[in-house]
Amino acid sequence: MDKHEQAARLNPLLREVLELLGEDPDREGLRKTPQRWAEALLTYTEGNHIDPQEHLKVIFQLDEDDYPQDSDDMVLVDNIEFTSTCEHHLAPFRGVVHIAYIPNAKKRVITGLSKLSRVVETFARRLQVQERMTQQIANAIDEHLKPLGVIVVVQAMHYCMVARGVQQRSSLSLTTARRGLFHSNQNLEAKFQAYLKLRMDSSKV
Ligand SMILES: [Zn+2]
Repeated sequence: MDKHEQAARLNPLLREVLELLGEDPDREGLRKTPQRWAEALLTYTEGNHIDPQEHLKVIFQLDEDDYPQDSDDMVLVDNIEFTSTCEHHLAPFRGVVHIAYIPNAKKRVITGLSKLSRVVETFARRLQVQERMTQQIANAIDEHLKPLGVIVVVQAMHYCMVARGVQQRSSLSLTTARRGLFHSNQNLEAKFQAYLKLRMDSSKV
């Protein structure tokens, strides 16, 4: 079923939702809402149809001279912004992702930095919980780049909590996933955290 057909089938269902909420779907402001809502929902979930590995296919090989075998230097990309949809309330949650990985010393494989944000986007555009999204991003990088280690940190604000008054507006949820050397070597995580502290800017969330 293509997007057009999906939207056409969602349209009457969403119209009924509006009715059940006590609205008049025929009033001026709402006439086109079921269609717009359907298209928005399809955008929020378009990551369901994308394999994140697609984005990690493009890899680069570093020269041996450029990358010593025993290096544990990390590639770090911080503040990758995302918006996702909480699967419990279908409310948005948004924030930033920080990723660091240590390229495999033998293979010396790295990826384009922009590809990491595409991977984040692929997982964000699904119905999600923050904890799972964090693990999925780490797994995708771990499986495809086979780095010596990877760490993913996600900071997010959940509108289902903000809107329902469960949490203060300024509260952020923080989740972490570690693989490889980031599990075993706490120094590496300390380095990563120290860098983030320097850069941390919660106004970006
Ligand atoms: Zn929620």
